[in-house]
Amino acid sequence: MRYGILSDIHSNLEALEAVLSALGSERVDRLLCAGDLVGYGADPVPCVKRLRSNGVVAVCGNHDWAAVGRMPLDWFNEQAAAAARWTQGHLTSEEKAFLNELPLAWTDGQVSLVHGSFCEPAEFHYVMDFQEARLCLDLQKTPVAFIGHTHVPGFFQEEAGQVRFARPGRITLQQGRRTLVNVGSVGQPRDGDPRAAYCVYDSEGGSIEIRRAAYPLERTQEKIRMAGLPEFLAARLATGY
Ligand code: ZN
Repeated sequence: MRYGILSDIHSNLEALEAVLSALGSERVDRLLCAGDLVGYGADPVPCVKRLRSNGVVAVCGNHDWAAVGRMPLDWFNEQAAAAARWTQGHLTSEEKAFLNELPLAWTDGQVSLVHGSFCEPAEFHYVMDFQEARLCLDLQKTPVAFIGHTHVPGFFQEEAGQVRFARPGRITLQQGRRTLVNVGSVGQPRDGDPRAAYCVYDSEGGSIEIRRAAYPLERTQEKIRMAGLPEFLAARLATGY
């Protein structure tokens, strides 16, 4: 089975299109999304539609919950709250129903998905360090799992009782060692690389690769400005932070 895995699209249609186009040549059997389909960007409806038409299996992120009124906006900083309010007003009832029904976690028995951490998924904890990765790995029931939320891609792998971190690239899986993959963000990377991040997992070949796709971000910035969303949300796309 070949999986294409995305996360944190954040209503960025140009980045999503670039990633779907890159995945087009990958012979992917299943498209997974680790949450935050919407929030921040100006294209929530087209992004949800595009993902659904590609048969995505998704879990909910905190921004998806905010967009359907399931998350208090005081959880967010000023810009994120403004974007959540804007998104609430621009989603149709069809997309809201879809987002509202997304589960907190998902598994097919081979891989699993959650937005923040398997530790209290509804609290949307961030896996930023070894301690948080350990908590998440201890609750991970499949050899491989995918998360998002931090917008910083990389691999946490068990090795001789320790947790190791590997930077984005290609890794080969080792039997008996669980691997937790942060796939990074399609629509708002925060690791200093403005290109959209995505992941390909070949379960037969036992390899996982985190890749990047360039997209016309000036167009995305223009749409954010035209929509009257906070300028910061447009500007940060160019820096990847
Ligand atoms: Zn996010």
